[in-house]
Amino acid sequence: VSWTAEDEAIIATNTDATECKRCAVELGYWKDDYITYFVKHVDRKAPEINRGYYARVRAMEMFIHQFLERCGTKCQIINLGCGFDTLYWRLKDTTHAIGNFIELDFPAVTTKKSHDGEVMFREGDLHSDGYHLVGCDLRCLGEVRRKLAAAGAYARADAPTLVLAECVLVYLRPEAADALVAHLAGAFSRCALLVYEQCNLDDKFGEVMARNLAARGCPPAGARHGGPPAALAAHARALGFEAARAWDMETVWRALPDDDRARADAIEMLDERELLLQLNAHYALTVATRGDIFADMDLNA
Ligand code: SAM
Repeated sequence: VSWTAEDEAIIATNTDATECKRCAVELGYWKDDYITYFVKHVDRKAPEINRGYYARVRAMEMFIHQFLERCGTKCQIINLGCGFDTLYWRLKDTTHAIGNFIELDFPAVTTKKSHDGEVMFREGDLHSDGYHLVGCDLRCLGEVRRKLAAAGAYARADAPTLVLAECVLVYLRPEAADALVAHLAGAFSRCALLVYEQCNLDDKFGEVMARNLAARGCPPAGARHGGPPAALAAHARALGFEAARAWDMETVWRALPDDDRARADAIEMLDERELLLQLNAHYALTVATRGDIFADMDLNA
């Protein structure tokens, strides 16, 4: 796989996500003491964007906690296309010290992310006790497997494994995304996969989103991408997961605790409620699992 201008556009999506997250954190939507290390100054984003990021981060967090509740910290987390996600440090500040935490992204991203660490580098990757930040192209399954092996992932194949894919798989061709997901589902007998990405791309609003995605280096949508949530869940089952559920983000938002929603409402007024509804209807969270201990992970569990 060669490096292209599209890859540059894809890498830039991380800067965008990090800026949006920092903006929402500064406004008080959620707490993140680490995000300021990765992006210095940001302009204020529209309330609908901040709200969308809040729902995204809150929803991922809710299921990460469900996973940890079920298996404790003797587990591993694999963060695909991690960008500048600060989850590792946020969990470290709680009682949740994860056994093995592996982050993967393009080397251009992981190199920047590792800038300040007290760590050991091996071939440009960072390996420390229980934390691995490795550069690779997620489209090359062979490379992903080598890097996961170097990070000790397969040595713990029996350990409960959480795989995170937050706005990542959509940047891969469907065949490559499928091969990666099917491999992970097969490699870890007790695992949960959380995917946050676009859905319902076939209506008018969705077509505009699909065009924006294409401009940012996304391959054209195949059968897997952009369908309704039920199709995303069925697809995860077809790739080897025993159970899978998916919801659009409006459904997820309504299922969050009243306090969380009231707090968000108090932070800033929404000018364009209709726009937020449209955005929420075009993003989905999928939770796919293997192993009985994760079978009951659910929105209201
Ligand atoms: N998961 C992070 C988050 O939600 O904040 C970052 C999301 S950002 C929209 C997408 C990330 O996926 C970028 O950091 C990008 O470099 C990474 N990515 C996309 N395609 C990739 C590939 N083929 N190999 C490695 N990383 C990739």
